[in-house]
Amino acid sequence: DVLDVVVVGSANVDLVLPVQRIPRPGETVLAAGMTRGPGGKGANQAVAAARAGARTAIVASLGVDDSGDLLRDALASSDVDLSLVASTTTPTGTAIITVDAGGENSIVVAPGANGELTLSEPAARAIGGAKIVLSQLEIPFATVHAAASASSYFILNAAPAAELTDELLANVDLLVVNETEAEAIAGSDRSALLKRVPAAVVTLGAAGAVILTRGGDEIAVAGVPVDAVDTTAAGDTFCGVLAATLAAVSATDSMTETDLRNAVRRATVAASLSVQAAGAIPSVPHGDAIDARYAEVYL
Ligand code: ATP
Repeated sequence: DVLDVVVVGSANVDLVLPVQRIPRPGETVLAAGMTRGPGGKGANQAVAAARAGARTAIVASLGVDDSGDLLRDALASSDVDLSLVASTTTPTGTAIITVDAGGENSIVVAPGANGELTLSEPAARAIGGAKIVLSQLEIPFATVHAAASASSYFILNAAPAAELTDELLANVDLLVVNETEAEAIAGSDRSALLKRVPAAVVTLGAAGAVILTRGGDEIAVAGVPVDAVDTTAAGDTFCGVLAATLAAVSATDSMTETDLRNAVRRATVAASLSVQAAGAIPSVPHGDAIDARYAEVYL
């Protein structure tokens, strides 16, 4: 049974604390409440791929604790295959997110179990057999590198922003970055990304995304106008749905520019749906909602 998408990435519990003002150094403030929910780029992207219709597994590391159970439940109930998840006595990763009255946030992540993620034999086999492998940078660099080397089609969402080695980028088939991340890799001229990877998608928030391919023109995909409520996991929804949609293309080695453009359109539609609901995983849309909106926008 070939998997469509294997996500190699982080899983965190998000503690979201609404505050009037993000505290300055040395200051204590009271939050208006606290919500605790499943998140982390790897988990969010795996849920997005699975809900978009792809047979999806996650390679991740979770603690044997309440937070780990919360994530296992959230992933399993979205039909993400958990057989490649490792359990450790190190606590599950946790993100403390303060959000101020204006919607600005400030985040501290304790990687915990994510910092121990390595590729087991079965994980490496699944990666080798999967149509698409998708990873981010919230797990050890060596693990991302090993996943990239073992994949037939590797999508790197280079988030959070980091400078990257040529060794890693040599194994990347498609890079997905926002504008800040693009700048960390290639400086202010985004076309310079193509000196390092064969294809890239740069997301532009409400403005949508732009596709860059070697020898091709830049293709702009407009954002879908919506009343944004909470942009948490917009980028993750985009990446997961992009991977799921590309997995449905018959053979990745014959993928055309049109295939890529249509997949970026579907990812853009899905991300616009995610910003209309609060939270990370709760805001990730399902395939039927994505396809209905896609038909309204494009067909
Ligand atoms: P985040 O960190 O908020 O998850 P990001 O910085 O990784 O996002 P963005 O470029 O901000 O990435 O957003 C990703 C995609 O989400 C965009 O390409 C777009 O399709 C969609 N999106 C984001 N914000 C909006 C918005 N206000 N309205 C409509 N679509 C949006």
